[in-house]
Amino acid sequence: MIAVGFIGLGVMGGPMAANLVRAGYDVVGYNRSRSKVDDLVAAGGKAASSVAEAVRGADVIVTMLPDSPDVRTVVLGENGVLANASDGALLVDCSTIRPDVSRDVADAASGNGIRALDAPVSGGEQGAIDGTLSIMVGGPADAFDAAKPVLDVLGGTVVHVGPSGAGQTVKAANQLIVAGTIELVAESLVFLKAHGVDTEAAIRVLAGGLAGNRILDRKAAAMTSREFTPGFRVELHHKDLGIVTSAAREAGVVIPLGAAVAELMAALNARGDGALDHGALLKLVELLSGRA
Ligand code: NAD
Repeated sequence: MIAVGFIGLGVMGGPMAANLVRAGYDVVGYNRSRSKVDDLVAAGGKAASSVAEAVRGADVIVTMLPDSPDVRTVVLGENGVLANASDGALLVDCSTIRPDVSRDVADAASGNGIRALDAPVSGGEQGAIDGTLSIMVGGPADAFDAAKPVLDVLGGTVVHVGPSGAGQTVKAANQLIVAGTIELVAESLVFLKAHGVDTEAAIRVLAGGLAGNRILDRKAAAMTSREFTPGFRVELHHKDLGIVTSAAREAGVVIPLGAAVAELMAALNARGDGALDHGALLKLVELLSGRA
């Protein structure tokens, strides 16, 4: 039986770890708040009370943490992953973090005899539950081949996109597209409502034409009924748009619409709505339109 150490059992990591249990892996999970570990045990996994306990003896280690500093602490820190993982283990970081941090992690890992991949995901909580995530993977080809069976349990579209950090660069593009699309859907919904149009009928017909997109399919109904339980939190998307804007600047690429959406997400976060789903961009459009 292949042993998997799983660290970070939140909105995404919890169902991902449970899917690995269902697929027959021996999963040992660790999370900072204990209740999430108890959920994994209820799903058939095992509990660890530290990073060290989760990764000791693991063939594959998966991390699903909020941000770059969390990954640095958990992987590189004293008593972290690299200090405790077995020689030859495979580290798969599914968190969305800065590409340069992914490269640092991969360098440090290889210095410790551990192969590392950055493997950020897209598809949201539902994709994590259904095991249909899109997974964009950066790192050495042999490490990708070794991780593929595990990644195939978690995702429906698993693609090796280049060397270490490349997965995070692709994920940054993903977050640019998603944020921009949510903002345009939010603006359309506020616009339609202001004109007294039947919003539900409008969403149905728009979804069948060139304006059709996954945000309309999956989020517009919740946005219309002002249901903003996450899902994907504004504070996390704000973090991701910081990655996007600095990576664009680093490459000398101008992203005028992306920069505007980054500012809107920052405003929503600064107003105290960081814990809401990113569909709450609708609230900001209402506010700016004097319709809050
Ligand atoms: P989350 O906050 O729900 O989960 C993160 C978990 O990590 C939490 O349970 C937290 O307690 C735990 N954690 C934090 N620091 C820790 C530490 N030092 N040791 C152990 N556990 C620790 O976040 P999430 O929504 O699951 O997102 C995780 C990552 O996936 C983020 O980088 C996010 O940007 C990305 N992501 C999220 C979604 C989504 O829809 N939620 C979609 C794609 C990608």
